[in-house]
Amino acid sequence: MLCHCLFICLTWLGSGLTASGSTTSDLESAVSARFKTIIRDPNELRAFFRAMPKGADLHLHYLGADYAENVIEIGARNDLCVHPKTMMVGPGPCAAPSIPLNLVKRDQELNDMVVKALSLRGFQGNLEARRQHVQEVTDRLRALMIDKSTHLASLCRQAARENTSLIEILLRDDEAGVILEQLSMDLDMREMPEERWARLAPLLKDVLKDTGRRLKRMQQQAGFRPPNATAPGIKAGFLYSIPRTVSNRHFFVEAAFAFALAAESPVVVGVSLGGDEAHVNAVANFSRQMVILAFFHEKFPSVKRAYHAGELAPGRVSPEHLGTHIEETFRVAGADRIGHAADIGSADKMHQLLTGLAAKKTAVEVALTANEQLLGLAGPAHPLPLFVRYKVPVVLTADRPGIFRTDLTEQFILAATRYPQLGYKDFKRMVRNSLEYSFLEGQSLWPNGDYTEPAWSFLPEAGNKPSEACRRFLKENPKAAAQWRLEKDLRRFEESQAGRIAAERN
Ligand SMILES: [Zn+2]
Repeated sequence: MLCHCLFICLTWLGSGLTASGSTTSDLESAVSARFKTIIRDPNELRAFFRAMPKGADLHLHYLGADYAENVIEIGARNDLCVHPKTMMVGPGPCAAPSIPLNLVKRDQELNDMVVKALSLRGFQGNLEARRQHVQEVTDRLRALMIDKSTHLASLCRQAARENTSLIEILLRDDEAGVILEQLSMDLDMREMPEERWARLAPLLKDVLKDTGRRLKRMQQQAGFRPPNATAPGIKAGFLYSIPRTVSNRHFFVEAAFAFALAAESPVVVGVSLGGDEAHVNAVANFSRQMVILAFFHEKFPSVKRAYHAGELAPGRVSPEHLGTHIEETFRVAGADRIGHAADIGSADKMHQLLTGLAAKKTAVEVALTANEQLLGLAGPAHPLPLFVRYKVPVVLTADRPGIFRTDLTEQFILAATRYPQLGYKDFKRMVRNSLEYSFLEGQSLWPNGDYTEPAWSFLPEAGNKPSEACRRFLKENPKAAAQWRLEKDLRRFEESQAGRIAAERN
């Protein structure tokens, strides 16, 4: 029944072909040809990728996603103050020498200073200093970005500008964090994990309820559609982030909470693992953390997992820790998606690992700007072309666009200019991957995860209307509904590109 319905849905999509009656593959070939001609023209390329529907950004850190200018504006509205020397932020009224952000936004010199303190704009310094600066920026943002729903509303507008229909936002709830840390003090790590969990679970009930309510309210106030909506509109889901830099006992509590929250909250679509991977605790406890994550996966098998792993480069950690994190995150913790995987070249059995990732359809979230800025990894040293060659599903992400002063469009431009072996079809695949590997609920529009469904070759009949079964399928499956809309948008985009070709010919 499902296949039949999919066939009809795809045929229906197919029926919306060009006015001139071109088939999808005609259109795709025409756009691919145009793409090759504009690849060396930065303005044409930017216009091309700006206009291209990009599906989703699946790896957007709440602390760092918004631009400093917006952070200052929203902070000013909340009467926050900044110390002109330390750049520490606090609530008003401002005691000297702290300055109200309201004043900062109207003074060019002060504004420049604060923007630099909240991002990498104009930053001079080596890799180590840059990483240190980003850490300090993140701490300042934590104190500043307290009006979460307003910041999320700003991200919603950003998503619209980027032509994305979904963002998955990595965050933690600070209020919950305080309670969890307290709970971790009484945890007995000599007990078996089962017993520990049994003792902990009832203690989490209230904080789960409160946090779930807070996140839901934030999401609604920001103007996002919930992740399980099938109606049009920009959706946002949260990936609840487990900190990897804490002690083992604290990690156990945070992981328990994150999994339980994702299992019961409709706006938390999965769990994530964050923090500096080269931190002493993250390195020393890595294997134990993977076992803990595997334990909670068993308790909550439906919870989706997107873990950072391999955001490392030679020299960041001692050699025995290079390349091993991806392997363990994949095989032990069983991640559905892996963030970065930048040090895959150092893996013991790299080719087997790549083949394994491809076979299990474990997607890799590639963040070119983040890897360049924080790892010094760019150009041929970056594994993006390797992932594509091995058919590992890839999605592009802006990671922390506010801090890096970038956006998702720029990630596509960087990939296209740095890796000319990638063509339009590769980018279209990455865009489709972003919804296929998103944590939206329901079935996929693509039954085998392959975007070359034979339905495309069945020629559409003009005026085909979707069957009732097809409509029902899309209504019941948020993921398929989003994918179906993306296909329509991609079609429209390709038609407009084909129109450009015709206009340029004349
Ligand atoms: Zn990240």
